[in-house]
Amino acid sequence: MLSKTVAELSGALTRKEVSARELTQAYLDKIHQLNPALNAYVTITAEQALAQADAADNRRAKGNASPLTGIPIAHKDIFCTRGVLTACGSHMLHNFIAPYDATVVERLEQAGAIMLGKTNMDEFAMGSSNETSWFGPVRNPWDQARVPGGSSGGSAAAVAAGLCAMATGTDTGGSIRQPASFCGLTGLKPTYGRVSRWGMIAFASSLDQAGPLTRSAEDAALMMNAIAGSDLRDSTCLELGFEDFTAKLNQPLAGLRIGLPREHFTKDLNPAVQTILQNAIRTLESLGASFKEVSLPNNYLSVPAYYVIAPAEASANLSRFDGVRFGYRCENPDNLEDLYKRSRGEGFGDEVKRRIMVGTYALSAGYYDAYYIKAQKIRRLIKQDFDLAFNDVDLILGPTSPHTAFKLGEKVSDPVTMYLEDIYTIAVNLAGLPGMSLPAGMLNGLPIGMQLVGPSLSESRLLNVAHQFQMNTDWHSQRPEV
Ligand code: GLN
Repeated sequence: MLSKTVAELSGALTRKEVSARELTQAYLDKIHQLNPALNAYVTITAEQALAQADAADNRRAKGNASPLTGIPIAHKDIFCTRGVLTACGSHMLHNFIAPYDATVVERLEQAGAIMLGKTNMDEFAMGSSNETSWFGPVRNPWDQARVPGGSSGGSAAAVAAGLCAMATGTDTGGSIRQPASFCGLTGLKPTYGRVSRWGMIAFASSLDQAGPLTRSAEDAALMMNAIAGSDLRDSTCLELGFEDFTAKLNQPLAGLRIGLPREHFTKDLNPAVQTILQNAIRTLESLGASFKEVSLPNNYLSVPAYYVIAPAEASANLSRFDGVRFGYRCENPDNLEDLYKRSRGEGFGDEVKRRIMVGTYALSAGYYDAYYIKAQKIRRLIKQDFDLAFNDVDLILGPTSPHTAFKLGEKVSDPVTMYLEDIYTIAVNLAGLPGMSLPAGMLNGLPIGMQLVGPSLSESRLLNVAHQFQMNTDWHSQRPEV
């Protein structure tokens, strides 16, 4: 039961094969059994979950349920949750009880989803392996010597191990898609502005987007129905009416044109990943899609541009954590300056400090034009590459990650190697486009994802293609033995 999809569980709840309370209790039991090893959850909200489950059962009995009513969910600990610790993977916020719910949390609660707890993550979502978390690393349920990916690693591990039915993640440079690839899940990073960022602790505000981590494209569509849409509290949120992301899941793929970026399919791409992608391409061809080469000539600049823009925005966003207003405060400061210095020095981890220093440097007088403005110009070129490609094709297919999940400790001491993890995903954030990762094959017992990228607001199309792929393959139904 616990490894079923949201759509299946929703059916089981409707048919009264299980109650929301039974389902919630079963997930809580499994969390207690497996979380000590996986470290996927940092907070478990058992009592609140059971109360929400009873409310969901009542709502279903009254006949005004949504498909998500009674479905247990885990929230990445970057989302503010009223009355519940919201630590964002950081010592800085180790005692921060949020006074309100993020829009995403609020909307899922309104849909009737049951919050089981908050998931571990890289500190302030900075990382690709979950190893920068103040709460310690998360282990990949497929192989506990390996990382789950990051920064939404706790959410991905929780869904993969059957510790929740679905989870929220956020993606600034790949943090939904890369963990989805490493854990055998479907992860969608929506178009920038599709989902409200209100109540989501800011990392790089022009790049951050929330999205679903699920076991299928259909589940991702169900979650999107709840979370997408305009929000007066986030002025960058697009003003769009309700879109039913499940409506086009079954549309045939005949006539679909898919681009394969020349820059992604080079001899540098792991041959085994290459083979997995070729098989996926053949499957989609048999469903009516046609393929052609496209070019993203500036993709190679995406990691360097991102590592100017994201730290610059982070250095501004994280200036609010000063030991005065909220979060960690050092003991016995001598004076105000000492309070600032020691609170920030003791509250932030190494990776966060590195980003704040890089960002502050890039924004300082004299370097602003040389680094920040230059990076913004590159960002424009990267967006233009996609616009040109989408003149010829409906969407783009390629790898999500260069490889399967790597070993804990393997890359953590080398920041540049870690930054290159996002070589295939980061350009999508810089361009503000929707991208998703879905399981495409297995390599030595580990899942590997493929990435689909579409033009602005093409989420329904991406979900349609992913769903059709999943109706004709069973990579997404593989589950780890934990
Ligand atoms: N790995 C990238 C970084 O460390 C992206 C993280 C993210 O998407 N939150 O910044």
